Amino acid sequence: MKSIYSKILLLAFVASSVYSYAWGLTGHRVIAEIAENHLSGKAKREMKKMLGQERMAYWANWPDFIKSDTTGAWKQASAWHYVNIDPQTDFTAFEKDLKAQAGANLYSQIKVLSSQIKDVKTSEKDRKIALIFLIHMMGDLAQPMHTGRSGDLGGNKINVTYFGDKTNLHSVWDGKLVDSQKYSYTEYAKLLDIKSKDEVKQIQSGTLENWLYDSHQIANKIYAQTPDGSKLSYDYQYKFNDTMERQLLYGGLRLAKLLNDLF
Ligand SMILES: [Zn+2]
Repeated sequence: MKSIYSKILLLAFVASSVYSYAWGLTGHRVIAEIAENHLSGKAKREMKKMLGQERMAYWANWPDFIKSDTTGAWKQASAWHYVNIDPQTDFTAFEKDLKAQAGANLYSQIKVLSSQIKDVKTSEKDRKIALIFLIHMMGDLAQPMHTGRSGDLGGNKINVTYFGDKTNLHSVWDGKLVDSQKYSYTEYAKLLDIKSKDEVKQIQSGTLENWLYDSHQIANKIYAQTPDGSKLSYDYQYKFNDTMERQLLYGGLRLAKLLNDLF
C-alpha cells in the first residue's frame, strides 16, 4: 500500500514539475488587478453581476487549479492555455499559421468564450466560467512562452538552472522571474500601472492576433538568448526584468480592452 502511495506521489510530482502551463499565482493576479483598474463602468457592472463581490484577481488562477480536478470534467480545457507556433518572422506568416492550428487552443478558445459570453442563450453558470477563463487566458497570452514552439512545448523541454536549481525555460517565465521581485500582486500592479491615458490607448490598440504576435516575437527573442543548458541568475533577471514587467502590464491593459469591448 505504502509503495503505491509513494509511486502516485512521485508521478504527481513529476507531472507537476516537468511541465508547467501558466504565469504563477502572482503574475495572473497582477494582470487581473491591472485590468480591473481599467474597466469601463458598464463592464464593471456586468461583471459584478456575473462574478459577485470577489475581485478579478480572486478568480485569475482558477483555470490552473482545476487541472488538479480528478473527475476529468476539465480535461478538455488543458489545451486552452497556450498556442504553440514555430518561429515566424512576419505577421502575415504568423497569422496564417495561427489560424491553421488544429484543435482548441489559446487563440481559438478566447474567441469561442467571448462569443459564449455575448450569447444570450448561454446559462448564467457557463457565462461565469467563460469569463473566469478569459481573465486567466488573456494572462497566459502575455506570457511569451505560451506562444512558443511546439517541439519543446513552449520551452518546457529546454532545461536550464535558475540560481542553481534545475528547472526549464517555460517555468522561469511562468513564475520564477516574477517571484524573484518579491512584491505582492497588489504592490506589483500599483507599481506597473502608471501609464498615461495615451500610452494605455496605444498599448490596447491592435487585434487579438497582433497581441499574440507581440508575445510570439518576444518568445523568439527569449529562445535566442536562453539555449538549453543555460545557467540563469542575476544577469538573466537584469536582462529580462523589463520584458517580464512589460508583459504583466500589457496583459492587464489588453485584458481590460477585451472585456470593455465585450460588455
Ligand atoms: Zn494558464
